[in-house]
Amino acid sequence: MATTLTESNQEYVPKAWEEVPCMFCGSRRNHLLEKFGPENRYHYVRCADCHLTYLNPRPRYDEEFVETAYDVYESTVEKLWKNGALTAEGQRQYDWYVKLLQEMESVVGRKGRLLEIGCHLGFFLKVATETGWTATGVDISPTMTKLGREVFGVNAKCGNWLELDLEGPYDLIYCSHTLEHIPNPGDWIDRFGRYLAPNGTLCIEVPNMQSLDRRFKRALKRTGLRKDRWQGWRTPDHLFEPCERSFAPYLKSRGWNIVGLTTYSRKTFKTGPVQKLMHSVLRVGSNLRFYLKR
Ligand SMILES: [Zn+2]
Repeated sequence: MATTLTESNQEYVPKAWEEVPCMFCGSRRNHLLEKFGPENRYHYVRCADCHLTYLNPRPRYDEEFVETAYDVYESTVEKLWKNGALTAEGQRQYDWYVKLLQEMESVVGRKGRLLEIGCHLGFFLKVATETGWTATGVDISPTMTKLGREVFGVNAKCGNWLELDLEGPYDLIYCSHTLEHIPNPGDWIDRFGRYLAPNGTLCIEVPNMQSLDRRFKRALKRTGLRKDRWQGWRTPDHLFEPCERSFAPYLKSRGWNIVGLTTYSRKTFKTGPVQKLMHSVLRVGSNLRFYLKR
């Protein structure tokens, strides 16, 4: 799922807000971390008990909010695919996914049946299918899934996957940059287990609140050198911003074993010793990738 809003939506202020407890541990003990967005209406707080950063109050997760937050994810197909062929950016992303799928295969131990939750345009499904996986995807957006089927010819279903009857089990379930958009991540995390084949693998990717990049930007803001009202990487549809410290114990508490954990960049796939140090040892890259088994 993409993570930036268009210019016109950057001034969006939701009509209804709600006070919420921490969505990981239920605690109401927290402190204000940062205000941002139009009129500084968006507040990130940090849970005093589990360290999760989340929006509080947050926009009420109603039809009006969901439509405004998600009707903008439509223009990206032309970035990837034009006149029946991959664009340069499409090729870059294709190669990136090929490497990711190789990594996934090494964790899963085989190529097999794959389910992607939050499949957006289905581009990952396309690469997976063309590299030998049997791939199915689900996304809440009718526009995205229709484009995925028509442009990329992938098996993309539309709907709330909690309500769909999917034909499991799957050897690999992939959920990338989607969990932080929903108000009930625990329901999803529990349900993934029901669709996994024996010894199957769940791969979850989320932004990393504790990345070097974010720490640096926050530090700049504190000094007053950076006064921006809005940052592309923080959108009203990110209801929480996990980090390893908050997310790893949460996943374990819901019965998952972490069999692989790394950070990563969406631009380049890790290769050299510097990237290895940053992503595998220190884990301070912009995004987190968990491999999990039951
Ligand atoms: Zn908490």
